[in-house]
Amino acid sequence: MPEIKEPNQVLVKVHAAGICGSDVHVYHGSNPYAKYPVVLGHEGSGEVIAVGEGVTDLKPGASVVFEPITYCGKCYACRCGHHNVCRELKVLGCIVDGIFQEYVVMPRSQVYEYDASKMTYQQAALCEPFTIGLQANWRGDVRPGDVVLVHGGGPIGLIVANIAKSRGATVIVSEPNESRLAMAKDFGADYSINPMKEDLDAFINKLTDGEGVNVIFEAAGVPALLAHATSQLSPAGRLVAMTFGKEPIPVNFKEINAKELTILGTRHQYQKFPEVVKILPDHLKEVDEITTHVFKAEDFQKAFDTLADRNSGAGKVVLTFA
Ligand SMILES: [Zn+2]
Ligand SMILES: [Zn+2]
Repeated sequence: MPEIKEPNQVLVKVHAAGICGSDVHVYHGSNPYAKYPVVLGHEGSGEVIAVGEGVTDLKPGASVVFEPITYCGKCYACRCGHHNVCRELKVLGCIVDGIFQEYVVMPRSQVYEYDASKMTYQQAALCEPFTIGLQANWRGDVRPGDVVLVHGGGPIGLIVANIAKSRGATVIVSEPNESRLAMAKDFGADYSINPMKEDLDAFINKLTDGEGVNVIFEAAGVPALLAHATSQLSPAGRLVAMTFGKEPIPVNFKEINAKELTILGTRHQYQKFPEVVKILPDHLKEVDEITTHVFKAEDFQKAFDTLADRNSGAGKVVLTFA
């Protein structure tokens, strides 16, 4: 049982934790940032059991979600509001021990309380991927009336689409897997396209009268899609790269200049939890649909295998801790 050692710490009983694609990479040794040995997990929820003497704004019994990152607050990135790319960034379940444990001790600043009458622990565990979707939409500056193209209908692509729709955009999801594509509609996609069956470029041309889409999110992990995006964007368009290839990807700077395009990286999130704990109760239908599998923590091997199995139909896989 971990113990509170500092006055600003809280002891939390973990109840539910989602398995992220990045957990799978850490598990397989293919995450370049991971420091071993490490306890996995950064997407989760739990119940406050005890608080340090310096904590006055949180009581035992409160339901909380976890903030996965810590930062120095002094480096250039921190000074200009990009704490999520701090030079001393530490991420739960990657560089420091994560939350795939029954109990964790954390600084007060790394937990956010939410209204337990509005969502279950299992639902609240999806706050973190929604913060990622919110960060990506913030990076892409998605505005009402924008036409947005999301490549990839995995959990993150669907969440990005869902948030873009709630910001008033017209959303296209492109995804070759038909069962994922079927979900896209429920996540607010106005158009769901299977690019293996339909000519996506022709569709974009027709929909936008040849202007191009305004924002593209690449969440499929296909390098060629990043390279091709500059030709699909409208003037003043934005490309948010949520994936990256192993090799450098050629980019057409002629198009970038001619159309004054913006290419944006996006990594983790900064200060998106306060908003997400408020808005997630409005997205519970989507949260429940995307949570395809729930396993007890002791069945973690089955959970990881399910996530890795392309035929399992897995969306979000969540572990529960008794
Ligand atoms: Zn994650
Ligand atoms: Zn910093």
